[in-house]
Amino acid sequence: MADTQADDLQHAIHWYALRCQVPPEGVRKRFPTLQSCRERLIAVRWPSGIFCPRCQAGDPVHLTTRAQYQCRSCRFQFSPTTATALHRSRIEVPIWFAAAERIIHYQNMGSATGMVPAHDLAAAMGVAYVAARRLRKIIIEDLGPDGRGLLRAAICTEEVILPPHVFLGTERHLGWLIDLYYNRDSLS
Ligand SMILES: [Zn+2]
Repeated sequence: MADTQADDLQHAIHWYALRCQVPPEGVRKRFPTLQSCRERLIAVRWPSGIFCPRCQAGDPVHLTTRAQYQCRSCRFQFSPTTATALHRSRIEVPIWFAAAERIIHYQNMGSATGMVPAHDLAAAMGVAYVAARRLRKIIIEDLGPDGRGLLRAAICTEEVILPPHVFLGTERHLGWLIDLYYNRDSLS
């Protein structure tokens, strides 16, 4: 029982911290276009410059007709999502961003095991039920404590710095995050 409560606390802290880090105005306002979403993904995936996922050569050719790059060395064509968990041909980057934000908010409303229902996510994102289930699985893995965090890095634009008197992983930590979140709302 005690372990379950401890897990619930860590779960709540993890997801509340994410909630405090997403843009206060929402990801759709911060990244309103397909282009701005792609640029954000590129910035977090390749902070030191775009390189080929296959051979690691830098300075690829931008194929302007599509959101694609071609490696000058091995000729491999790739996009900002190639070789990531987000590489699903029919789901564009803005859908990933918006779905991740929705899942973060839902996690805070629900219980430790709560997940946004796939039919809700499908309706909100305009995708099929099966696609929504895959989307949800991949996003929760990415955003989770052990996830790769590419999407997390992309949509978490706000820095949250814990004051020294608040210890990590404590009830006080959670309370501090909740205060931060609601105070931020009242200021905006
Ligand atoms: Zn290459």
